[in-house]
Amino acid sequence: MELFSFLFGKDGKEVELLFHGAARQVTGSMHYLRVGERWIALDCGLYQGHRREAEEANRRFPIPPKELTAVVLSHAHIDHSGNLPYLVKQGFSGPIYCTPATRDLSAVMLQDAAHIQEEDAAYWNKKHPGDPIEPYYTQEDALAALSYFVTVPYDRTFPVVPRTSCQFHDAGHILGSASLSLTVDRNNGLSPLRIGFTGDLGRRGLPILRDPAPLPECDYLISESTYGNRRHDNPNDMKTKLAEVVTRTVARGGRVVIPAFSVGRTQTLVYYLRQIFEEKLAPQVDVFVDSPLAVSATEVFKMHPEIFDREAQSLRQSYGGSLFECAHCNYITDVSSSKALNDRKEPCVVISASGMCEAGRILHHLKNAAPDPRNTIVIVGFMAVHTLGRRIVDREPELRIFGKMYPLEAEVKTLNGFSSHADAGELDEYLFPLAKSVKHLFLVHGETGQYEPLAARCREAGFAQVTYPERGDRFSLE
Ligand SMILES: [Zn+2]
Repeated sequence: MELFSFLFGKDGKEVELLFHGAARQVTGSMHYLRVGERWIALDCGLYQGHRREAEEANRRFPIPPKELTAVVLSHAHIDHSGNLPYLVKQGFSGPIYCTPATRDLSAVMLQDAAHIQEEDAAYWNKKHPGDPIEPYYTQEDALAALSYFVTVPYDRTFPVVPRTSCQFHDAGHILGSASLSLTVDRNNGLSPLRIGFTGDLGRRGLPILRDPAPLPECDYLISESTYGNRRHDNPNDMKTKLAEVVTRTVARGGRVVIPAFSVGRTQTLVYYLRQIFEEKLAPQVDVFVDSPLAVSATEVFKMHPEIFDREAQSLRQSYGGSLFECAHCNYITDVSSSKALNDRKEPCVVISASGMCEAGRILHHLKNAAPDPRNTIVIVGFMAVHTLGRRIVDREPELRIFGKMYPLEAEVKTLNGFSSHADAGELDEYLFPLAKSVKHLFLVHGETGQYEPLAARCREAGFAQVTYPERGDRFSLE
């Protein structure tokens, strides 16, 4: 096919969608919208998975980055934003629209992602000198990408390309997360085309964040389907359950170790622990947040109280301005203070990364905590198969950490209510009211077992057409 007709269709006039990332999977979110001769990318996520597949997915863009006019970014998670520095490195030089908090979190997270890639490449190249790899981008590239970010607050209409405007709606998923509604004006007296994109959808009742705002009526809708067939525990019970774990562990003279993602989950835990101690729901002990990324991300949270929910706003006032700091809360960045934690005898709470226990400082804390039955390891996030986190959830009697075996004698407590993704019921509640207006619903960001049952329920609820597109599928919108 000639490049022109591939890029712009036959007459360069119509509107179309091209699906690329997070199509029938959950990683590397990236969808394209063409309006006439202009291409817009919705998200530009990093594909995370096996090396060869990741190389293919991340290094090959279906639309040459120089031909792309703009990016609209739903939120700062790396599977939605993490390939932006590579896009810029490959010649993209247009605006990247997002909310102010998404820009500030991206500043922290993209540099962290670059740092991890640099370290991974150096490690791999040392072990495989005959098969060297290169990071997708460096920390310098990440900084360069940040200069293209243009921020727009929620609920304000902004132009993306000629004839096309957009609005962000709070998605309640992580700080700054947005669902998008796009409007494309058409000629010849036709009514405007309305296109919705959920981004990642949050849940009602998540701490700190406001509940997801409903999406306005639209003609075409791209929706996530991560937990299209799963139910989560109620987030409102998590504070009490966490307080019970802390109380029990402190009574045994042990420590609570919590592997947690540095952005979002860690701040939620500190927010709850602060309240638990203020409300005397558990004995007050020292809390250590041992993750440099979490420390930087917490600074971003502190900069954006304007988008907190009402409860967080009023607690912030009664705590004299700070939700994430107290006399017993210690943020650790340097390695020596992190190591010193191991020699502590008094009960305490340690929150550290990585979330799935695959790398980072949490490994040292787990290796020390696992063999002692007085301690508790609290699981607050999803643990993929083959990760150390999953082996802890499955209570394997021995854990291999840094090549040595350690008995798992500590209590293991899984708290399922912390998920920041809508579950099956919450997706239904959000999507079903749109069934009347939507002509075609596209389900993305999910796996077969999740999007198929959701698709079936959506058809039953009255959606005229429901599709789960594959990578490379194109749909013209009329
Ligand atoms: Zn997300």
